[in-house]
Amino acid sequence: MRIDELQTPALIVEQSVVRANLDAMSAALPGDRLRPHVKAHKCTSLARLQADNGHRGFTCATIREVETMAAAGLGEDLLLANEVLDTRRLGRLVDAGHRVTVAVDSTETVQAAVDGGVREVIVDVNVGMPRCGIAPEKAGALADVARRAGLTVRGVMGYEGHLMLVGDEAERREHAERAMALLLSASADVGGDLISGGGTGTYAVNTWVDEIQAGSYALMDTAYQQVGLPFGQALFVLGRVISASSDWCVADVGIKALSLDHGNPAIDDAAVWFCSDEHITFAPEHRLAVGDHVRVIPAHIDPTVALHERMYLVDGDDVVDEWPVDMRGW
Ligand code: PLP
Ligand code: MN
Repeated sequence: MRIDELQTPALIVEQSVVRANLDAMSAALPGDRLRPHVKAHKCTSLARLQADNGHRGFTCATIREVETMAAAGLGEDLLLANEVLDTRRLGRLVDAGHRVTVAVDSTETVQAAVDGGVREVIVDVNVGMPRCGIAPEKAGALADVARRAGLTVRGVMGYEGHLMLVGDEAERREHAERAMALLLSASADVGGDLISGGGTGTYAVNTWVDEIQAGSYALMDTAYQQVGLPFGQALFVLGRVISASSDWCVADVGIKALSLDHGNPAIDDAAVWFCSDEHITFAPEHRLAVGDHVRVIPAHIDPTVALHERMYLVDGDDVVDEWPVDMRGW
């Protein structure tokens, strides 16, 4: 199939770029140094390529992601890096022989792990961002509660998400060092043999954790492009110009086809004015005609992918494969 036969809007992934991104990250963080986060692509076909590159463990954000990874035969070591109150579906996976570890940051989430039949947990530590995670000085006591409840505590995780987009690399490293000092102090109290953290923005500067939980690097977005990382833009939302005036064009890629939470998307050689439900209005440098195709680059990859049922793998103008976004939903 040719790319211009696709119904728009459609997610397209440039095959050579995604492969280069995966290889660049695997060269920097081989094997168990990387625990790829699947929330960024929600696609087991892509996760399989990451596994083929030598990464055995994966990070997930939802129960659905854990279940789908296990069903795809990728359930050797799944870390749900998120707090969960109803863990029954996870307990069923554990009973079926999959290794599932869940994040805890309270006695309630520890009890939930016990109740649902999950046997392994990781203590989620607040490393400076107002999200989930227990205060570092309380982490050891929570690990004791978990062990007394019969759980195995694998170690600690801490996500320094507030640092991912710090523009200057040296500054990002300094901030990461401070954040990770909190994680290491918690680790000393918690014990276990795993220290997990990091993401695409800090993969090269966070040298304190055992494994990095990066996900966005595979497909990329304009937010991460600004940070100057060695990963190329692999994913686009393909659209078509449905209306054109002398000063601007309208294409069929609106906010129901991409997420704007990190700002407007970009189109090469064009100024994007705004997006509405089903439209993107933009001023191209060179005149476009109704029917022309445009590649819209999202500002935030994860919530964009989650809006689509499939992505098409392309090689230039040829569609070479179709990957279901099979981990979407809950
Ligand atoms: N780890 C956790 C717990 C996250 O929530 C995220 C992203 O939100 C990441 C890691 C890193 O993802 P990214 O590759 O997008 O930086
Ligand atoms: Mn994200």
